[in-house]
Amino acid sequence: MENLIIMGSGPAGLSAALYASRSALEPIVIAGDQRGGQITLTQDMENYPGFPEGVGGFELAELMEKQAVRFGARISSDAVTEVDLSKQPFAVRTREKNYETKAVIIATGASPRTLDVPGEKEYTGKGVSYCATCDGFFYQDKSVVVVGGGDSAVDEGLFLTKFASKVTIVHRRNRLRADPILQERAKNNEKMAYIWDSVVSQVLGDDSGVKGVRLKNVKTDSESTYDSDGVFIYIGHIPNTTLFKDQLEMDEEGFLITDKRQKTSVEGVFAAGDVQDPVYKQAVTSAGTGAIAAIEAEKFIAELEGKAYPGK
Ligand code: NAP
Repeated sequence: MENLIIMGSGPAGLSAALYASRSALEPIVIAGDQRGGQITLTQDMENYPGFPEGVGGFELAELMEKQAVRFGARISSDAVTEVDLSKQPFAVRTREKNYETKAVIIATGASPRTLDVPGEKEYTGKGVSYCATCDGFFYQDKSVVVVGGGDSAVDEGLFLTKFASKVTIVHRRNRLRADPILQERAKNNEKMAYIWDSVVSQVLGDDSGVKGVRLKNVKTDSESTYDSDGVFIYIGHIPNTTLFKDQLEMDEEGFLITDKRQKTSVEGVFAAGDVQDPVYKQAVTSAGTGAIAAIEAEKFIAELEGKAYPGK
C-alpha cells in the first residue's frame, strides 16, 4: 500500500513530490512518457524565479527531480494506464504494476492542440512539428511557418530564427496575444514575418515532406498557398484527463475542477498544474499548486489514519 501516488513529473508533480517527501510520505512519482513534462521542450526559461540569467527547461526539470529524490521521493519511468478512484484504497494500474494508494495527486499536464486539417497527421515528423526545441535544428537556412499568436508561437518562432532563414507566423487575428516583451523581440527580428487573419486549412507536401501550406483568410474567405519547409503548430494545449473521464468532475474543455486547496470532486484525489488550469499555465504556478496539493494530501492521510494534528 502506497501513501501517495503522484501522476506526472513536470513542475507540478515534482514540486508535489518535494513537499510530500519532506512530510515523510515517501511518495512515488509515475513519471509518464515525457519525464520532466512540457518544460523539457523549452530551450530557455526566463521567467522561473531564482534564475536571473534564465535556465534550460530540461535542466530545471532535472534539478527539481534531484531535489525531490534527496528527501525520499521515488521516481518511476512508467505510465499510468487505468485508475479506479471510486473507493479507498484507490487503484492505479501502470504499464508495469498495480498499485493501491491512500491518496493521489494528478499532475498529468496537457498536450499540444492539433489543427485537425488535411496533411497535418500525414506530415507529422516529416515537416509538421509541435516542438521547435526538438526539431528546429533540421531547418538550417530553410523557411518555416509557425501557427498561433500566443507566447508559445512567438517564443518558439524566435527560437527558430537561430536556424531558419525565415519564420512566418500565421495567426487568425490581426494582432498577437503574446507578452509585449516577446512581441518587441519579434518586431526587432528581421527573420520574422506575419500573415494576419489567416488559418492553415491544409498542409501540403510530397514524398520528401512538407512543401507549404494552404491558407484561408478568415475575413475574406480567399484561399492561397504559401511555400514552406516546415510547419510548427502552437495553438494551445488540451489537458491530459482521458484516464479520469466519468470519475472526476471536469469543465467543458476537459480540465479537472479543483478548489483552492487543489481538491478534486473525489476526497483524497488532488490535482495540480496544467491539468486543472485553463488560465495561467506557467511553470511557477504549476509548482505552486503542486506544493498545495502535497500539503493537503498529507493532511488527508493524517485524518484517514486518525493522526491529524488538532485544528490543522
Ligand atoms: P495560448 O496562449 O492559448 O495561445 C494559443 C494561440 O493559438 C492563440 O493565439 C489562439 O488564437 C491560437 N489558436 C487556438 N486554436 C487555434 C486554431 N484552431 N487555429 C488557429 N489558431 C488557433 O497558448 P500558448 O501560446 O501555448 O501558451 C499557453 C500558456 O503558456 C500561456 O499561459 C502562456 O502565457 C504560457 N507560455 C509562456 C511562455 C513565456 O512566458 N515565455 C512561453 C510559452 C507559453 P486566439 O488568440 O485567437 O485565441
